[in-house]
Amino acid sequence: MSKVDIYKCNSYEEKDVKPIIEKIVDFYDELKNIKPGTKVVIKANLVSAMSPDKGATTHPSLLKYLSAYLLEKGCSVTIGDSPGGVYTKPYLNAVYNATGMKETNAKLNDNFAIKKVTYKDAEILKTFEYTAYLDDADILINFSKLKTHGMMGMSAAVKNLFGTIPGTIKPEYHYRFPKHEDFANMLIDLNTYFKMPINIIDAIVGMEGNGPTAGKARAIGCVLTSRNPFELDYVASKIIGLQPEEVETINQSIKRKLCDIENITINDDINKYFIKDFALIKTHSLRFMSDKNGIVSKCLSTASDKIFANKPECKKKKCIGCGKCANICPMKAITMVDKKPHIDRSKCIKCYCCQEFCPVGAMQVKSSLIMKVLHRHK
Ligand code: SF4
Ligand code: SF4
Repeated sequence: MSKVDIYKCNSYEEKDVKPIIEKIVDFYDELKNIKPGTKVVIKANLVSAMSPDKGATTHPSLLKYLSAYLLEKGCSVTIGDSPGGVYTKPYLNAVYNATGMKETNAKLNDNFAIKKVTYKDAEILKTFEYTAYLDDADILINFSKLKTHGMMGMSAAVKNLFGTIPGTIKPEYHYRFPKHEDFANMLIDLNTYFKMPINIIDAIVGMEGNGPTAGKARAIGCVLTSRNPFELDYVASKIIGLQPEEVETINQSIKRKLCDIENITINDDINKYFIKDFALIKTHSLRFMSDKNGIVSKCLSTASDKIFANKPECKKKKCIGCGKCANICPMKAITMVDKKPHIDRSKCIKCYCCQEFCPVGAMQVKSSLIMKVLHRHK
């Protein structure tokens, strides 16, 4: 039986955050009884060089007070991530600056070595490369952010580990795992490989709408923690109004018996935390409209994907013609025509990298008309 703790928290001010950090420390014996000299590495969500108030990155205030506790105990603390883009010191420095990481007083990762690994027990990710600084830890902490995500529906604890893959080679992983189901299993494999013992979600302010980078900051009002990232994500998804079937990582983790939704214990009444009007990205899948066995989606199978599928679409008035979407697209499905992106739909795998990395939010997830009607009905 797994335990998920949720703590109400409405601001990033010291008076609100410090008691939350104390509760998190109390939840984990290895933090409560931590010895001087312990090396703690925190994998934050630093998706892009964005200021904390945008709601896209782990807030520096939480990291600052967690680091303060650990530093006072004589530990070393390193914060790191590898967002999309190059994995180099100048690039990460810009990200650390923008995301407020320099306020945390922790060491900010400056080891940009990459390690290759074979993972025999993986379901799908038998070999992969990851950011080697993670190896220099006695305790690893997965400190994520709760937000919408174009491809996966939601980004929280499980998705956060995609940041263990060096940014430069992330598009290769979209190319290797173009199906959403496979991509979700790849993310799950990363989680079972690293076995992060401490998983925390910053959901004080998250992101709704066109996430994970171009949505709107939205107050959610809590911090969640658990040893089990899959069950943690399940609870977080309920808070923002998602069904398990709408988040492929949750769906697959249930199938792989890593998430036992019948036996999760929560320290508080979850009903107090629900956000009824959280603006979600309507996922590509029709599964949520079907019964438990997915009869509707099975019957409609391939046809449904064509008729009901969401797709990336450029809002031309917002587009500044920078070409970042074309550069990041793992399938080379985008060509720039008259300084505007043109998408070859036959090549597109709906990974939404173009949406995630558009600097002005011009690339968006477009729902089909039928999907809009179905969601309204739901
Ligand atoms: S066009 Fe966008 S969603 Fe489609 S494959 Fe390229 S990056 Fe992914
Ligand atoms: S990344 Fe965004 S702004 Fe840049 S060309 Fe693509 S859609 Fe336009």
